[in-house]
Formats: sequence, C-alpha cells, structure tokens
Amino acid sequence: AIARLLGPAEIRDLAELLDVTPTKKLGQNFVHDGNTVRRIVQVAGVQSGETVLEIGPGLGSLTLGLLEAGADVIAVEIDKRLAAQLPHTAGVMQPGTSLTVVTQDALLVTELPGEPVRLVANLPYNISVPVLLHLLEHFDSLRSGIVMVQAEVGHRLAAEPGSKVYGVPSLKAAWYGTWRTAGQVSRMVFWPVPNVDSVLVGFERGTEPGTVEERRATFAIIDAAFQQRRKMLRQSLSGVLGGSAAAASEVLERAGVSPESRGEQLVIDDFLRIARAAGEA
Ligand code: SAM
Repeated sequence: AIARLLGPAEIRDLAELLDVTPTKKLGQNFVHDGNTVRRIVQVAGVQSGETVLEIGPGLGSLTLGLLEAGADVIAVEIDKRLAAQLPHTAGVMQPGTSLTVVTQDALLVTELPGEPVRLVANLPYNISVPVLLHLLEHFDSLRSGIVMVQAEVGHRLAAEPGSKVYGVPSLKAAWYGTWRTAGQVSRMVFWPVPNVDSVLVGFERGTEPGTVEERRATFAIIDAAFQQRRKMLRQSLSGVLGGSAAAASEVLERAGVSPESRGEQLVIDDFLRIARAAGEA
C-alpha cells in the first residue's frame, strides 16, 4: 500500500463516516493540508524510531505525518469516536507503523504506554496552556516539542520580560525550559476555519530551577502578582506575603527584588527567590 496524508476529500469522508460535527467545546479544527503537516513534522525535527506524544489527534492529520516520518506515536484523544477510528485510518494510510491510542482527557493523564521524548501537537485552543503545563509536570521524558496554538497564546508563551504579553503563561512555561515561536499557520488549512490565526511554538526543556514544592509556591506567587498586574509587588503580593505591604516589602527585599517593581519585569528565578524568602520567614 502507498502511504498518504489527509487532504480535504479524506477529511470530509472521515467526518461523514463517523458522523462527526466538529465541536467548539473540544477545539475541533482539523488540518486538511499535507504541506502544513509535513512542515510541522520537519520544524519539530522528528527522528525515525523515536517516541512522539501527540495530544488531540482528531481525524489523524498530524498523526499520519508523524508516522510517515518513522516516529512511534502515542496519541491521547478525549473524543471516543475519533480515538476508535484512528488505528483504522493509520492502518490504511500509513500501514506497518506504530501507533498507540490513549482515550482520555489529556489534563488527567498521569501515565503513558511508553516514554515519549518529543511532543508534537495541534492543541485544543481553549486548554492549550494547562495541557502544556500538565504534560511538562508529569512527563520528564519529554525533552522538546512543537505545538500549534492560537497566535495570541503562542506569543505569550514565548514572550520576554517587559513585553506587553509577558505574563503568567510566559513565566510558568519558563520554569521548564526555553520557548520560541516557530512560524505562522494560516487559518485556511483547517476545517472548520477558526476565527483566529495559529502559530507554532517550540520548546527545549532545561533543568528545573527548584523542587516540586518550590514550583508550587513560586506558581502561587506568580498568580497573585498578575492578578493585579498594574500594582507594585509590595501591594499585589501583600496577601500572600505576610498580610501587609510592609511584610511583603521585607520578604521582597530579602529576595533581592525591589518592592516597587511589577511582576512583568521579573524572570522566573526572581519569583523562585521570592518563594524561598517567603518560606524562610
Ligand atoms: N490533530 C488534529 C489535526 O491537526 O487535525 C486535531 C486538532 S484539534 C485542534 C484538537 C483535538 O483535541 C480534537 O481532536 C479534540 O477532540 C481533542 N481534544 C480536545 N480536548 C481534549 C482533551 N482534554 N484531551 C485530549 N484531547 C482533546
């Protein structure tokens, strides 16, 4: 058999066969363009023989591209009909390849049948950041990845301190490694066509700067700092650092952070030092 990817005709036929009406709730926009799929697989640097994790395989557009590149794919899909069809699609379009489908909510997965080294996914848009943080928290084997997300979210993930879109996702993502945008994707390659454009975002995992407990404490402080983004830290963090602006200033000074700075000026290591200083109190 000849290996193939999914084009508009195949997407239409599969949707009809499964009686699928794509739902917004599950962020179901399916890619029907083989060139886009091959580009993602290439940018991701997928190597033959490695294990790749895909979240939300849908009708299988990206899955087939990963299999074509020789990857062993573990695919986590919440929609039972889509998950059940996927091995059949792969069997016809990319025969003789290795695909394991896990029918589950990606936000709840804590074990996988294998040790994926790379994440390659066209993520469901409404939960893309929580999914990324959940996967990085639970699967140490993931060393790098390329994900397609809504453009606005992608720019947040890859933002530098001081930039307008720098915030909670940028900081939490930075705990796990370095992030970059890796190209735009036209909304026209999807069915149905979404209201927003997409970008590819890449990450390389680094060494986490602290322990699991320190991560939790640091993330709580980040959340508090950005709940009142325009305020100085001694104000926005007064609730979580001692109950008053004076107490918060004392902790911030011990951490080597100006009480008059704002969250958007700090990097992840600054927040970790604040969490450590708060813990010493
Ligand atoms: N990868 C396919 C493609 O590129 O054509 C589909 C991508 S579509 C943007 C997102 C997919 O994620 C859908 O198949 C949807 O059913 C699935 N999904 C949504 N929420 C999910 C969740 N919590 N866990 C796992 N999969 C989910």
